[in-house]
Amino acid sequence: MIIIYKMDRLFCECGEKAVYLDNNSGISYCKKCFLNYIYKKAVKTIKHYNMIEIGDKILLAVSGGKDSIVLVDIMGKLAKKLQKIKLFAVTIDEGIEIEGGNYRNEAIEYARVITQKYSIPHKVVSYRELFGGSLTEYVKANVYKGSACSVCGVFRRRAINLIAEELGANKIATGHNKDDEAQTILMNVLRGDLERILRLNNISEEFIPRIKPLRRISEREIAMYAYLKGYKFQINECPYSHDAIRDKVRDVLEQVSTQINGVYDALLNFQDKLVNYITIHQVTLNKCIYCGKPTSPKSKICKPCEYKLEFTKKINYIHSNESL
Ligand code: SF4
Ligand SMILES: [Zn+2]
Ligand SMILES: [Zn+2]
Repeated sequence: MIIIYKMDRLFCECGEKAVYLDNNSGISYCKKCFLNYIYKKAVKTIKHYNMIEIGDKILLAVSGGKDSIVLVDIMGKLAKKLQKIKLFAVTIDEGIEIEGGNYRNEAIEYARVITQKYSIPHKVVSYRELFGGSLTEYVKANVYKGSACSVCGVFRRRAINLIAEELGANKIATGHNKDDEAQTILMNVLRGDLERILRLNNISEEFIPRIKPLRRISEREIAMYAYLKGYKFQINECPYSHDAIRDKVRDVLEQVSTQINGVYDALLNFQDKLVNYITIHQVTLNKCIYCGKPTSPKSKICKPCEYKLEFTKKINYIHSNESL
């Protein structure tokens, strides 16, 4: 049965006309109450997971998409209120060539606008500066046989960590929303990847703790929040984005959520409970022989260095062939 709600017939508890209906709870909100509700939900998430302490220096990872723009808005507001946390922001320019220029340029501008609004120092760093080549050059050199996202993910994590270290940040905040989180958990269940569910997968890379203040806010709520605030954000998808499994998992979750209320939260609760039940044993990590960063006990070279070496080898090979 499809129920069509006419928003102009719905009213918020405060008596104002509603602009948003929460399908799960059946509660409708006017603009002011909706923005307040989302801000409070993020603050509740931060408290629940003890994400922030007084004195924290937090680096916000701002891609310029809707999630990260809303992250800056909420964290900027919270920092003004608390006064005792310091925020920085970074946008990573992957160097993704598209017709007429660089894919990330538009997003960098949106990130600049919102960080300026909250007087948050904002840095832009590129893969070319840090890893000797743009993502498109890495893709053309065919450094990794999998998807471009595999190289991109490894480089992004390293780039953000390097900037956090440079700025003296003790935490990194990302804009992952509830839909992203639930999809990732379900994908890891389907792969039987307990290590990832327990968040052990990035142990070699991520010594600076990551926080996700929007992890209990749905994608729909975030889109509405950004729209009501009048923020511009990058809409166009990255030309390399293609994750067939995630697309399927997204569809399954969307379908199931029409039959079962609260499946997204149930998946997040499942992960939280599992993490609490299982004692995590410390592992001794190796140091990368090239950059000195921690790497998995099984390898001597960290992933970013491995890709960089492979890229340099291929580029040198291409140049030596060209000069023949
Ligand atoms: S879709 Fe993949 S390649 Fe594109 S920015 Fe995201 S991780 Fe990088
Ligand atoms: Zn209201
Ligand atoms: Zn290394």
